[in-house]
Amino acid sequence: MPKRNPFLTIIVTGVPGVGKTTVLKLTSKMLAEKGVNHVILNYGDYMLETAKRRGLVRNRDELRHLPLRTQLELQEEAARSLVEAAGEKLGGKPGVLIVDTHAAIRTDTGYWPGLPEHIIKCFNPDSIVVIEAKPEEILSRQLRDPTRYRKDLANIEEIEKLMAMARTAAMASAVLTASSVYIVYNREGQPEKAAEEIIKLIEKLS
Ligand code: ATP
Ligand code: AMP
Ligand code: MG
Repeated sequence: MPKRNPFLTIIVTGVPGVGKTTVLKLTSKMLAEKGVNHVILNYGDYMLETAKRRGLVRNRDELRHLPLRTQLELQEEAARSLVEAAGEKLGGKPGVLIVDTHAAIRTDTGYWPGLPEHIIKCFNPDSIVVIEAKPEEILSRQLRDPTRYRKDLANIEEIEKLMAMARTAAMASAVLTASSVYIVYNREGQPEKAAEEIIKLIEKLS
């Protein structure tokens, strides 16, 4: 049987700008209100920290433009640090780990899996969530967000292609760990509804 962690593990994916980090902030608030021991870790934060320390990038949106072998190294180091941090933060008590990440990344040399076999097997997720929204809404979220550099992705055709890749990649990763794939819609102006969907998933998995 595939391995499972002592804590519930959920990996949250979706194309850049769909609203993963926004929805997960709300999810965290809701879990805290319910008194659920949980930790939400952003995969990109871990890759960025190492890449910045090595002088490879200035911001998180430069990571996907690095040479693929460099991304591969950063990806692996991040997975190890994330798993270690999760164990520490949950303090050996029952709880929930949520990882904010990507199942498919649009690099300069092709679509690339965020959760290939050696990575997904570090996490052993119970479920992989794919957050989705209408492509036009994702585009307008990307364009409205001044904190990020998503210009390389900001057109409808690219968003549609990446969404298809992201769904396929999520299922491909799920097969390796016998995880479920759970699609959550992040409707315009209603990120809390998407957060509630994730809470429902957690309750049903518990
Ligand atoms: P990335 O993968 O690049 O980190 P993300 O999926 O984490 O992207 P966010 O940074 O959470 O995306 O959101 C992108 C932008 O969309 C933000 O400006 C956020 O405020 C906005 N946004 C998120 N969800 C919604 C929503 N339901 N309705 C309207 N705007 C939203
Ligand atoms: P985010 O803030 O979620 O967009 O993460 C910043 C960047 O980190 C992404 O654009 C990717 O380049 C990188 N990243 C995040 N998760 C992964 C992953 N699982 N594998 C490889 N790169 C990732
Ligand atoms: Mg984010």
